[in-house]
Amino acid sequence: MPELEDIRRRNLGNLLRHVHLDGALSRTELAERTGLNRSTIMGLIAELTAAGLVREELPVGTGRAGRPSLVVRPETDRVYVLAFDVAVDRLLAARVGLGGTVLERLEAVRPRAGADLSSVVGVLAGFGKRLHATAPPGTVCAGVGASYCGMIRPGDGMVRYGPDMGWVDQAFGAELGRRLGLGLPVAVGNEAHLGARAEQLRGAGVGAQNLVYLHGDVGVGGGIIVRGELLDGEAGYGCEVGHMVVNPYDGRPCMCGSRGCLEAEVGERALLDAAGRPSSQYGWPAVRAVVDAADRGEEAAQHALRVVGDWLGIGVANIINLFNPGVVIFGGMLREVYLGSADHVRRRIADHVLAVSRERVRLRISGLADDATLIGAAELAFAELLRSPLDTLPAPAASTHP
Ligand SMILES: [Zn+2]
Repeated sequence: MPELEDIRRRNLGNLLRHVHLDGALSRTELAERTGLNRSTIMGLIAELTAAGLVREELPVGTGRAGRPSLVVRPETDRVYVLAFDVAVDRLLAARVGLGGTVLERLEAVRPRAGADLSSVVGVLAGFGKRLHATAPPGTVCAGVGASYCGMIRPGDGMVRYGPDMGWVDQAFGAELGRRLGLGLPVAVGNEAHLGARAEQLRGAGVGAQNLVYLHGDVGVGGGIIVRGELLDGEAGYGCEVGHMVVNPYDGRPCMCGSRGCLEAEVGERALLDAAGRPSSQYGWPAVRAVVDAADRGEEAAQHALRVVGDWLGIGVANIINLFNPGVVIFGGMLREVYLGSADHVRRRIADHVLAVSRERVRLRISGLADDATLIGAAELAFAELLRSPLDTLPAPAASTHP
């Protein structure tokens, strides 16, 4: 009966997803959340336990009289994924346990110029092999995910366009998989798409069904979630809000070849130029320094935040009018920029957003801070396990390290 088998697989995945996202849950809570009866829940938990994905234990410190009910926990220390993050200024790799805990991480500075596919993948694969080799005995890698700061073809992780390094059609996912040599495919996503998902699952957007995430560094990426689903467009390249034209007449030139794009007006260089900083200063430290200087009263820095906050507000106002989100989240460098320019952003929203569209929108900074994109990559890596828990992992006995 294939239908019954499908239902069972879906129920197993659903149960594991709840435990993965919310940690220890009792059988009663799981029954309430899934709508399944207790005997079905018990059977599913037994299967997940036998597969080494969850365990049942007494809750810590309940302090209540009577027999406490067991809670189901994810096997965080046993089942993990490898997550990678290729950001503008850093390369990051981590072992992330089921349940979303970052267990170990390795980081390197990424030079702004001259990094080709081979050198980037070489660093990441070296990190990944080290994390895998030093994982404790008995642990098992359930998947590999990567976040990349560019436009990614879903399915094979091809970087179609990586503007900061000028990458065009580079087989990033395939090459990372080959160099890791774990026999696992590498799922790759755009950093802002993954950041949006991570914030929705674990960050400032938990519970939100309609969410906009803006990720800033050199440029600005976007992830837009509508009714719980990412708007990825016809081929996976949707949400490029950074190239929404806000200032076409006398705007700054954009890396994409256009002029006056949102990212040209609010990206790192726009802020640093407006603050009179030389081109030798760049990156998050330089951006933070401008925000700090504005706080201390430096006029040039305050002027820069006014200018950039104004354009950011115009961009966000357009996005709110289009999508009526419940929350807009500022991530990456835009965290700092928003904190330094919130009044200007809010003023533009008040001026330009239809009153009914802004009634419920909240503006937030990223709840996962610098890890939003990394956590998004980890969630991408866990997706197959959560879809089909018993078919994805090798059996516990076969999974131990030599
Ligand atoms: Zn552009």
